[in-house]
Amino acid sequence: MNPRLQGKGFAHDRSRTILIVEDSLSYRKLLRDYLSQDNRYSYIILETETGAEGLKQYRIAQPDAILLDYLLPDMNGLEFLHALQQQIKKPDLPVVLLTRYENENLATQAIESGAQQYINKSELTTENLRLSLHNAIKQGELLRQVAVLKLENQQHLKVLNQQEEQLRLALASAQMGIWDWDLLTGQVHWNQEHELLFDLAPGSFDGSYEAFDRCIHPDDRAPVHKFVVQAIENHAILCHQFRIIWADGSIHWIETRGEAYFKESGEPVRMIGTVVNIDDRQQSQQMLRDRLEQQRLVMDMTVRIRRSLDLQEILQTTVNEVRQFLHTDRVIVYKFAPDWIGTVIVESVGAGWRSIVHTQINDTCVESYIGYFKQGLVTVKSDIYNAGIDAWHLKLLESFQIRANLVVPILKGDELWGLLISHHCSAPRPWQTTEIDLVKQLAIQVSIAIQQADLFAQAQIELTQRKQAEMTTQLLNAELEQRQAVEKLKDEFIGIVSHELRTPLTSMRGSLGLLAMGLMDNEPEEMKRMIDIAAIETERLVRMVDDILDLEKLEADGNTLEQEWSDAPALIQTAIEVMSSIADAAGVHLELDCPPVQIWVAPDRIVQVFTNLLSNAIKFSPPKTIVSIEAKVIDDPIMHNLDRSESVRFVSAIPFQQIHFTIKDRGRGIPIDKLETIFNRFQQVDASDSRDKGGTGLGLAICKSIVEQHHGRIWVESLWGQGSTFFLTLPQPMKEYPQDQGTL
Ligand code: ADP
Repeated sequence: MNPRLQGKGFAHDRSRTILIVEDSLSYRKLLRDYLSQDNRYSYIILETETGAEGLKQYRIAQPDAILLDYLLPDMNGLEFLHALQQQIKKPDLPVVLLTRYENENLATQAIESGAQQYINKSELTTENLRLSLHNAIKQGELLRQVAVLKLENQQHLKVLNQQEEQLRLALASAQMGIWDWDLLTGQVHWNQEHELLFDLAPGSFDGSYEAFDRCIHPDDRAPVHKFVVQAIENHAILCHQFRIIWADGSIHWIETRGEAYFKESGEPVRMIGTVVNIDDRQQSQQMLRDRLEQQRLVMDMTVRIRRSLDLQEILQTTVNEVRQFLHTDRVIVYKFAPDWIGTVIVESVGAGWRSIVHTQINDTCVESYIGYFKQGLVTVKSDIYNAGIDAWHLKLLESFQIRANLVVPILKGDELWGLLISHHCSAPRPWQTTEIDLVKQLAIQVSIAIQQADLFAQAQIELTQRKQAEMTTQLLNAELEQRQAVEKLKDEFIGIVSHELRTPLTSMRGSLGLLAMGLMDNEPEEMKRMIDIAAIETERLVRMVDDILDLEKLEADGNTLEQEWSDAPALIQTAIEVMSSIADAAGVHLELDCPPVQIWVAPDRIVQVFTNLLSNAIKFSPPKTIVSIEAKVIDDPIMHNLDRSESVRFVSAIPFQQIHFTIKDRGRGIPIDKLETIFNRFQQVDASDSRDKGGTGLGLAICKSIVEQHHGRIWVESLWGQGSTFFLTLPQPMKEYPQDQGTL
């Protein structure tokens, strides 16, 4: 706002500047006197005698009003008014004209020339001067205000125009279109940018919603409509992205924002909004998605490589995933042999394209590239026909249906191990930088996997070698231990055997020595006794040698007993018959209680066991006692054996039962500490047992060996002085099963 005007706006500022243009000094004085009597304003009075000076003074001081004499030395009042109008370019001037002529015409002319008031000098009074001047001042102020407002208006208009232009430029540079939809008439207005964004010539949009709808991608029409309706219904801001199709068929992404306006009654009347092209944003979002996908792939591969040590599996996964990511027709891993002839070792190939896995390719070009590949060179051909390749190489690529390829080296340390190759067969293919980057990253992961697999293989070899060495050492140790054990056994055996043999031999030598010396020549009774002793000891020696050989034979044969179904009572009966004369001689009665069962045994050996056990029982029984033999069949062999010993357990595909025998005597019994040991070789309860009872100490060892070869068990229960009971169990296959399955 004009500061002057602003200052005058204050109610208390009563100062006004008045310019008096009058050549008469006395009249100027009169005017000053009159003005000094005006108590409404306090006047600053400027005075000039001529019109020219007055005009000049007006320009300089910009007085609030002019008191103008009509007759001036250099011009008349009308001329002054004209000149002033020229000067300030305003039709209305804050001028009070003073004249002596009573001329209506002059007054009219003065008013037309812009003067506000007219006073006849002869009628001048304090009062009419005051009124005229106040009017002129008011008029001047109004004129000034109007001028200021006009100026301000002009400035505002200019700013508005500028802003509108700026907005237009901003919209144009932002490529932002504006739409304005009259919901009552259905008419839509688009600005020029909107038309350009929709690929329409400026001014060609017909303003109908249908014309807009036609530009939208068919799949997006319904959603656009739905979002627009929702925004209106919910009084919400519309913000939606959709695709449009240009005349050339290309698809473009648009984002629209808008808002509806409503009457007070709530009726929607208008909707205004903007449209912008978001192809770039969509593209960068797509790029971001691609990048994320790429990172995911690399991460996946890394995880898989860390998890798997199977190189073949890793390579196969790599080609599968690369082909999927690139949407291409074939991806292979090509491995070099030392002579640089390569073989396709894994492949992922799309339907309809030739499989080239296991193909050996002798590409002579590769050799010249080796140095570059080692430095990480990646070769990219988007179209083999525009790649400037020689005819031979072109033919090779054609033979594999290749149209475009991407070749990335796979290094193992500093060495070129192979190539990860992507083939596009259906058409030329411009490979994107992101795609190349991904394949390069995967090739690095593959390199790591190869080195890892190598290390693993080396570790495996070392492990196997170590295991083999350990096994050899263990075998050697076992052999050594076995040999030492055998040596020990042999020593023990020799010791025992030689001791056991020496006893009868000593006795024989003693008897025979006495005879040889002829000391008993005259004592035929004594001589006979000596000969008897020698004969008994010889027999015992023979038995002992037989038993040793028998035992050795049993152990040497292992589990090769020839078993057959045999009648259990008959076998026992045979043993009883063998022993009957000895039993009779000893006055011992033998009893048998055996069910008529068939048993799967080596019959002679089982008779041998019973004979031996009966022989012992008779040997250690006092006369007139009974030795009883019992047999019974037990159906639950496992339960039965569990409470005896865990050692007799069988794993058999067929059901089996146990036959359980007891040989009980009423003899002297066996002390508790000998119950186990008497089954060992040359073990007897008493050293005299061999001498007195003619035993060898090998019978029970032979029995145990025979029973165990039948997978059975033998043990004795006894109370010293109260007789002994020998037990033996033999597992039996069920009779109804074929004999060959019955082998346990
Ligand atoms: P031997 O030829 O000495 O009988 P065995 O191995 O058959 O050899 O028996 C070993 C020893 O076990 C016997 O010498 C004897 O001391 C003891 N023995 C075996 N059977 C009986 C039994 N029924 N009563 C008492 N002692 C026995």
